[in-house]
Amino acid sequence: MKMRTVSVLGATGSIGDSALDVIARHPDRFRVAALTAHRQWQKLAELCIRHRPEVAALTDPAAARELERALSGKRLPTRVLAGDEGQAEAASLAATDTVVAAIVGAAGLRSTLAAALAGKRILLANKEALVIGGAVFMAAAAKGGATLLPIDSEHNAIFQCLPARYAGDPTASGIRRILLTASGGPFRKRPIAELPSVSVDEACAHPNWVMGRKISVDSATMMNKGLEMIEAHWLFGVPRESIEIVIHPESVIHSLVEYVDGSVLAQLGHPDMRTPIAQALAFPERIDAGVPALELVRRGALTFEAPDHERFPSLDLAHRALGAGGTAPAVLNAANEVAVAAFLDRRIRFTDIAPTCAESLERVAARAATTLEDALAADAEARSVARSWLKLAA
Ligand code: NDP
Ligand code: MG
Repeated sequence: MKMRTVSVLGATGSIGDSALDVIARHPDRFRVAALTAHRQWQKLAELCIRHRPEVAALTDPAAARELERALSGKRLPTRVLAGDEGQAEAASLAATDTVVAAIVGAAGLRSTLAAALAGKRILLANKEALVIGGAVFMAAAAKGGATLLPIDSEHNAIFQCLPARYAGDPTASGIRRILLTASGGPFRKRPIAELPSVSVDEACAHPNWVMGRKISVDSATMMNKGLEMIEAHWLFGVPRESIEIVIHPESVIHSLVEYVDGSVLAQLGHPDMRTPIAQALAFPERIDAGVPALELVRRGALTFEAPDHERFPSLDLAHRALGAGGTAPAVLNAANEVAVAAFLDRRIRFTDIAPTCAESLERVAARAATTLEDALAADAEARSVARSWLKLAA
């Protein structure tokens, strides 16, 4: 059994917590090489004391100085790094073979890309990186010889249901469709007329999953499922026509793959991110994730319904952006990040999020997205368009 060394990018977040929980259960298999975050230096200091990484990185330089002070005299092997360069270094350390990419949003793109170019095994949670720079990222992973293991629960489920040596060609593997399941979030049954006045706390109260605030809001608008459709397109080479979204409020079936012979394979489990994280960390082996057994009889009925496109306009926006291709998904993602942050700051209404995305897709012309610069330019332009449309200060 090979000892794996792991860099956890976004270690202080919800995915970071779950990944470190699984890692700590298997000290014979995993050693933490690097831990990173944005500015939560106190939490990162505690994690450094517990996991003794070689590198700890905070993007915020003032927070990095605080971390350095907090760790001094603790006799740790830890070097503290700052800025975007620190994140990229943590992602590409020679001592690291596995990178958990769990920074939220576009902020994770550069470090995830650095891990790809350095040929790491990447456990990808940061779906925004693929949405913004899918072509660039997949090319970097191929060039660097990186292995991509999805840990977004749906994509991990699909990965588990694909043939063992799936090579990115659904037709050659007899795949008819990918069925992405979605819980429908906290507002699945809320009268549509009430959506303009829902609160931040209500939007963040996901019925089944405990997650960071940005992805919780994305689940409430179902933009999360739109981003996941784009993520699935890049990860598995499936055209958007072959991806269907199914509402499954119980969140027990995490996604399905339908084959031409009529077989439909599904992966089931409790809604606990430690399952997909453990599957990818140990792949191709299996390890205990600390997740209890799924008792089907106690769980009871599993139900399915079609998504309501009037309630969830984000689904059509993502469908349209993927169809337009090029920089359109980057524009969609950037506008969504601006709008979700403004909603979380209580500066706009919940129902302003989708129109901001629609308007940005309308106003920013889609171009080819063959380089990182193309993707970043589209991201910057869309942020500025979204801010001015929402009348937010730059
Ligand atoms: P959280 O908000 O809980 O955590 C985000 C993490 O990213 C924190 O560690 C934060 O650091 C760090 N971060 C934010 N900005 C920067 C930056 N500029 N530089 C470095 N680090 C940064 O998010 P989640 O864990 O919920 O989500 C992380 C990613 O995983 C997202 O892309 C999400 O879509 C995806 N995902 C999450 C799931 C979940 O269950 N939570 C499920 C599937 C996918 P700090 O604490 O210092 O701010
Ligand atoms: Mg998901």
